[in-house]
Amino acid sequence: MTDFVVAIDGPAGSGKSSVSRASARALGFDYQDTGAAYRALAWACIERGVDPQDPSDVIDALETFEYSIGIDPDDYFVRVGSETVTREIREPRVTTMVSAVARIPEVRAYLVELFRSIIAASTKPGIVVEGRDITTVVAPDADVRILLTAAEEVRMGRRSAELPGESAETTARQLASRDAQDSRVVDFMNAADGVTTVDSSDLDFDQTVSAVVSLVHAAQTSAESTPH
Ligand code: C5P
Repeated sequence: MTDFVVAIDGPAGSGKSSVSRASARALGFDYQDTGAAYRALAWACIERGVDPQDPSDVIDALETFEYSIGIDPDDYFVRVGSETVTREIREPRVTTMVSAVARIPEVRAYLVELFRSIIAASTKPGIVVEGRDITTVVAPDADVRILLTAAEEVRMGRRSAELPGESAETTARQLASRDAQDSRVVDFMNAADGVTTVDSSDLDFDQTVSAVVSLVHAAQTSAESTPH
């Protein structure tokens, strides 16, 4: 099992995924994107004609949900069964359905266990795990716990740059609506005790990665100097 866990929470558009992946690469760590599992389950429901709004049907669908994810930051993929869905799970039809699936407590309990088993399977010196509830639920004992935030208008601007096909207004509305739905389930806007906030509003991408890597180095140094 890996020795060192870096937990990163934050709202949509905070740069969580790209910053976590680049930080993992810089540190020689693995990287787990947990939102991908909620997205893959929503995708599987849509493909199988299961209504993502119907909790009991979604819970039944979990029984045959064969999920796998690449945790090497240089070999990222998401599969359901033998099908690679890395791109498909980012489609708007999935994004609009994912919060409905993610608010079902049985789904969360199942996926939290899955995320912990993926952490345990990492063979690198550490793993960066990102999502909405990683610092509080999935890995509350992580060695480094970070809340990555940015001002709302900055997050909306970044997300709309990622989705050039959509109007800025539509992107902003969708992002605000997803945050509102998700925040009923998990508080990812406020740092829990022991969690360090990194506000990337005034930082560029490389500066944000450096801030995360510095927090990890500081924690590694202090762990080395603390007698066991
Ligand atoms: O991070 P990403 O945008 O891919 O997450 C997709 C959705 O998955 C979120 O909107 C949220 O509903 C759900 N999610 C969650 N807990 C996590 C990660 C994602 O509820 N740890």
